[in-house]
Amino acid sequence: MGSHAHDANCPFCKIVRGEIPSSRILETDDALAFLDINPVNPGHVLVVPKHHHPNLLELPEPIAAHVGSLLPRLCKAVQAATAADGLNVIVNNGRAAGQTVDHGHWHIIPRFDDDAVNWPWPHAQYAGDELNQMRFRIERALNL
Ligand code: AMP
Ligand code: ZN
Repeated sequence: MGSHAHDANCPFCKIVRGEIPSSRILETDDALAFLDINPVNPGHVLVVPKHHHPNLLELPEPIAAHVGSLLPRLCKAVQAATAADGLNVIVNNGRAAGQTVDHGHWHIIPRFDDDAVNWPWPHAQYAGDELNQMRFRIERALNL
């Protein structure tokens, strides 16, 4: 599935087009923010580009920049409305990363000092020259 103006089977395209209900928070020409229907914590917001792009990797840079530009204001509003102690802003890309809806989206998740959310993730260590090799591989891929 590539990038189209909309995908008839996509739940977030249906929300953008008003074909299924949503609790809208903020709308611009190119993006929409609404409440996640199954929140990690109450006040969990999703921000989507209005056009259908399967994930962040497929997004045109100006659309990614536009969504990014909305995040500080949205985060401040979620923080103010929920009295959250912190916020996670997360984008899942691909099944291995937990993506279930293939219309790229940002999660804004209010967090509380005593909430039971499973975070932080475990962190590993690089051995030997692995860190340098990884830097070179990613740098090379950026320039391809
Ligand atoms: P992800 O796992 O990153 O793909 O996130 C998909 C998110 O969309 C989940 O947190 C769901 O709870 C949420 N979601 C799915 N369908 C709807 C819907 N109709 N309205 C609001 N949120 C939804
Ligand atoms: Zn879509």
